[in-house]
Amino acid sequence: MVEAITDPVELITLLELPAEFIPAAQHAARLFGLRVPRSFVARMEKGNAADPLLRQVLPLGEELETKIGFSTDPVGDTKSMVAPGVLHKYQGRVLLVTTGACAVHCRYCFRRHYPYGDAHAGQRHWQQAVEHIAGDASIHEVILSGGDPLTLSDDKLGAIIGDINSISHVLRLRIHTRVPVTIPARITQTLLHALRASRLKKIVVLHINHPREIDGDVRTMCHRLLESGALLLNQSVLLRGVNDCEDILAELSDALFAAGILPYYLHQLDRVVGASHFLVDEGNAKTLHEKLMARLPGYLVPRLVREDAGAPSKTPI
Ligand SMILES: *Cc1c(COP(=O)(O)O)cnc(C)c1O
Ligand code: SF4
Repeated sequence: MVEAITDPVELITLLELPAEFIPAAQHAARLFGLRVPRSFVARMEKGNAADPLLRQVLPLGEELETKIGFSTDPVGDTKSMVAPGVLHKYQGRVLLVTTGACAVHCRYCFRRHYPYGDAHAGQRHWQQAVEHIAGDASIHEVILSGGDPLTLSDDKLGAIIGDINSISHVLRLRIHTRVPVTIPARITQTLLHALRASRLKKIVVLHINHPREIDGDVRTMCHRLLESGALLLNQSVLLRGVNDCEDILAELSDALFAAGILPYYLHQLDRVVGASHFLVDEGNAKTLHEKLMARLPGYLVPRLVREDAGAPSKTPI
């Protein structure tokens, strides 16, 4: 895979940040490793510890605080698993955890404690996942998630897409990924060709939280994905100190649309252990959302939602 930084000392030194960040970063990184591709670091501002891109990936001492109401499986993933790595929570669509690997480790990730070792549909469990989907004609959409499915090799992805293609009641293929944003160069012609060749309707749901994540390379990649016939949507997480600001969210919607992406969801943070310092309370989230509605056309306002374990869909706030 493309080069990533995994050593907190290297990241802190490269960005010319004070050395006092190092001990806490090393400590927090032992619980959930640091990982950030160099192409993403290149969009960060040197010397700025509050940089909104850096905040998403830099391990901080706050992660070690325990807070009431924060758990290791806040969205009930382990309960909705119907086969290894197959999450069937909502009617008509299943989510496949195809791999535990991600190109970037987001500090607020709700899957930071997910038991990836035994609970993904990759390799030895893949046949079981296919059988589950083939055996349930109510499934019309398969969502490849993870981890990040685009960290898999083109061969593996090609095989996965091929197997899903062959199940006739599946109409749509959705890919949840941060790779086009964090390592745009990873989207190869082989992958684009596999997408274009599939009979399925394709939806790529990106994960972008701040307008500065979108640069020229990202726009080029989005253009290629659009040409492969995919609809591009975006989901963001509302994060304190990153995007909890009306102007930034409005700018994000504009930048997304300029890249051919429609805003889909703005997620309220899942209450996962280690991420409490990112929480924006629901009242403030609602106020921000109302301001966006008053300012942008409806199609540029993402739906503000929360995930409640056991609910039949995401819950609108
Ligand atoms: C979020 C999620 C989905 C997708 O929900 P949509 O509202 O269709 O975007 C599907 N399955 C699981 C398990 C999910 O967590
Ligand atoms: S890319 Fe997605 S799954 Fe991976 S760490 Fe970030 S939020 Fe979590």
